[in-house]
Amino acid sequence: MNLNFIVFGAPCSGKGTQSIRIAERFDLIHVSTGELFRNEIKHNTKIGQIVQSYIDKGSLVPDQIVLREIYKTASLRKNRHGFVFDGFPRTLHQAITLDKSLSNKGLHINLAIYIDVENHELINRLNKRCVDSGRTDDSLDIIRKRIEIFQEQTIPLINYYEAQGKLIMLSGMESIQAVSVSIISAIEKFLSSNPQKF
Ligand code: ADP
Repeated sequence: MNLNFIVFGAPCSGKGTQSIRIAERFDLIHVSTGELFRNEIKHNTKIGQIVQSYIDKGSLVPDQIVLREIYKTASLRKNRHGFVFDGFPRTLHQAITLDKSLSNKGLHINLAIYIDVENHELINRLNKRCVDSGRTDDSLDIIRKRIEIFQEQTIPLINYYEAQGKLIMLSGMESIQAVSVSIISAIEKFLSSNPQKF
């Protein structure tokens, strides 16, 4: 069985941590576009030099670059079980393009998991944890911009995946452990009640 999940949520919603746990539980490959780009920047590659200016401003990296990098990584790292995409897709255009390219390979996104965190809690977390992360895009102004872009460009994915019957929306307000338990059990429930989707 091949499973492809996407995990999305606002900056500091916990999507990175939860994506890793989901990947471990279902033996999937975790692909984080944010991590991928930070790694390119760290190694001062050509792609790293291009994406740094976007990331440091809190802007999205252009779709063309994101799509090229994600396909390159996915084809190098694929396993027989599938992927957890973390931070991708982040725009409707990316989601539509991903669907087309998966369907060319006879594959599809099985589930989109949205981790919902209320604004006041996001601001709390952003003030504490994220600001200590050492990331160049974690100053308060830039984080505010990332949240705005998230609301404008990524929130529309909720309707997109809901219309396809693939959305799991969960609260990310509890502890990391409590959120993982509810995500894993929601996925297991979805898998057993929708076998035709897999
Ligand atoms: P967060 O969700 O906490 O903002 P990520 O680690 O997922 O952080 O991404 C960091 C940055 O990398 C984003 O703010 C954006 O500049 C860039 N990025 C990551 N994924 C994408 C994507 N799918 N499309 C465009 N830009 C992206």
